[in-house]
Amino acid sequence: MSIDLGFRGVVGKLYPAARLQAGKPLTQAAAEIIINVRPKHVLIVTGFRVLPTMVQETDGPPGALILARTLMDLGAEVLLAIEEESYSILRSGLDEVGIKCRIVPLPVNVDLTNYSRSFFDEYAIDLLIFVEKAGSNDVGVYHNMLGVDVTRYHAKVEALLYEAQRRGCSVIAIGDGGNEVGFGLIRKAVELFVPRGRSCGCPCRRGIASSSKADLVIVSSASNIGCYAVSCAISILEGKPWPHNRDLEVRLLRAMIDAGAIDGMTGKGEMKVDGIPVEVTASIVDLLGHITKGSTGILKP
Ligand SMILES: [Zn+2]
Repeated sequence: MSIDLGFRGVVGKLYPAARLQAGKPLTQAAAEIIINVRPKHVLIVTGFRVLPTMVQETDGPPGALILARTLMDLGAEVLLAIEEESYSILRSGLDEVGIKCRIVPLPVNVDLTNYSRSFFDEYAIDLLIFVEKAGSNDVGVYHNMLGVDVTRYHAKVEALLYEAQRRGCSVIAIGDGGNEVGFGLIRKAVELFVPRGRSCGCPCRRGIASSSKADLVIVSSASNIGCYAVSCAISILEGKPWPHNRDLEVRLLRAMIDAGAIDGMTGKGEMKVDGIPVEVTASIVDLLGHITKGSTGILKP
């Protein structure tokens, strides 16, 4: 997941910062948290709307769905959340992955503090995962990677993170650019290495570096691939079959695009994730599937 498949020059610099924080390989760290918690009720939050039309990008939902399937195979009940405008895009992937779980549509531009409190009360969430989720900087502004202010298009989900931490619930953040929720954990590296990390160029006059801190950040060349790698690590440690494959990768992306998703790099409804062609992401899926199969056999008692 740390191969720079999108040629952005970021993953090779942010991954070591996150690994230093975790003290071990990131996929292993994530899988160990998840297996130790044995979560009963997981909330996975995704959603990044991109230029030029400000609709949901192809990176995020596929990863969130594969991770959801993996956690459901562990016996967890999973809730997914995304901006209400992007609901149908995430919904379109559920049948492909073969799972039934509730999708919570999040309103934009609403303070979610009270909502988060009652949400955690109602669903007894014991693990919170952010996947490619737009996050705000220290003055509350959300940016895309070019430094454009995209605040009014995104749900203010930091409230969910703060509520989780108030309750001692683990928070994992998966991202690729440093402007995602939770990436404040490696903020110095983001400010140092990510273009516009320290200086966005928008009127807020800060940087795109996110300020909220997850307990663990997973840095990947694309967030979907980060999710697949974490899912793969869980399958290996649990000795379970991995619930993803090349055909599903292609079908999933097709379903998202048919529902309106666009590639975050080109801004077009094409079979790409962060500019990476589906043939390449599908090959990564093949590779992970191969590793999982072999390792599952080795680990079998
Ligand atoms: Zn700004």
